[in-house]
Amino acid sequence: MKVPFNKPYLPETAFEFIREAGQLNHLSGDGIFTRRVEDWMRSMLGVEHVLLTTSCTSALEMAMILTGAGPGDEVIVPSFTFVSCANAVVLRGATPVFADVDPATLSVSPETIEEAVTARTRVVMPVHYAGVAPQITEVVEFCEQRGLSVIEDAAHAFLGRTDSKPLGTFGNFGAFSFHETKNFSMGEGGALVVRSDADCDRAEIIREKGTNRRQFFNGMVDKYTWVDIGSSYVPSEILAAVLWAQFSEADTIRSRRAMLWERYDNALRPWAAQHGFTRPIVPANSEPTYHIYYVLAPDSATRNRLLHRLQALGVGAVFHYLPLEESVFGQQFRRHPCPNSTSASERLVRLPLFHTMTLDEIDFVIDCVTTERS
Ligand SMILES: *Cc1c(COP(=O)(O)O)cnc(C)c1O
Repeated sequence: MKVPFNKPYLPETAFEFIREAGQLNHLSGDGIFTRRVEDWMRSMLGVEHVLLTTSCTSALEMAMILTGAGPGDEVIVPSFTFVSCANAVVLRGATPVFADVDPATLSVSPETIEEAVTARTRVVMPVHYAGVAPQITEVVEFCEQRGLSVIEDAAHAFLGRTDSKPLGTFGNFGAFSFHETKNFSMGEGGALVVRSDADCDRAEIIREKGTNRRQFFNGMVDKYTWVDIGSSYVPSEILAAVLWAQFSEADTIRSRRAMLWERYDNALRPWAAQHGFTRPIVPANSEPTYHIYYVLAPDSATRNRLLHRLQALGVGAVFHYLPLEESVFGQQFRRHPCPNSTSASERLVRLPLFHTMTLDEIDFVIDCVTTERS
């Protein structure tokens, strides 16, 4: 048997919805499927403003433009994250400052942010690793007290909650990803939550190449023109239709992922304890998204042995982020070491997890992890 790390999901209904978009003669962005997707997200998240975007990367870029941070300003980004966070900062001419992560959550905490704060800090960009963020309330409080804006990278965290509040709605901005590797997907895509009305007016313009096109179509102005900086951040209706097909199955997708995640966790508990591996935490105040099932090996040699063994057996297990301050481009921004990030990077293994995974497949993976064959 071979089990891939992820299997992109394209439900049959997606084709019906794409056909419907075609029949309405509307394949560019902001048609009825974009509206449906955004309305559903607004109601699930309990917020006023959600904009569908071409990716989480674009949503982070838009959020960075909206903060107004630029040359001379510093933005705190976790060391242990995807490059999109740091690129969004660098594209504005601002300086990314890499913060270490908490070893239990693999996300930044008030303590690790404090180590990175200077008089030039303007923005903090917490990432909810694996869709769990037990300390986000404290992180946002810390930032509010110091007048710092917060951009949540909630790429892993759509429909996750902390203290019953949806992730992506704690900060000034929240960015989601609907890339094919995420829980809900349109192939490539994302969304931006904007908390203030004024920011949202500007976000709509930035998303539409710096024009007031949305106001024009809403009948608020009688012509549309170039009014601000912006780029092409509006996804096609074809992709919005695919996302709508996935949202229509949200309950199934969520409950399958939860069941599979729990199956890993129950089956691997004794093995992990015996071999010195750490399992992911499920904090009492959090509703997880079950985006990633990972284990942390006691050391990097043990991690590498497990990865190679699984790959040889046909299991698509993978590592995750390399610390950004150790990357080719990120080294120039290095300030202080981030030992927890380095350690997680060397010890982490992600196991295959996708909601269409069969019980035979997951049990095969579990067997490959727990049974040492010579
Ligand atoms: C996937 C991911 C992104 C990028 O998402 P795209 O939609 O592919 O741009 C950004 N941040 C994190 C933490 C991610 O996991």
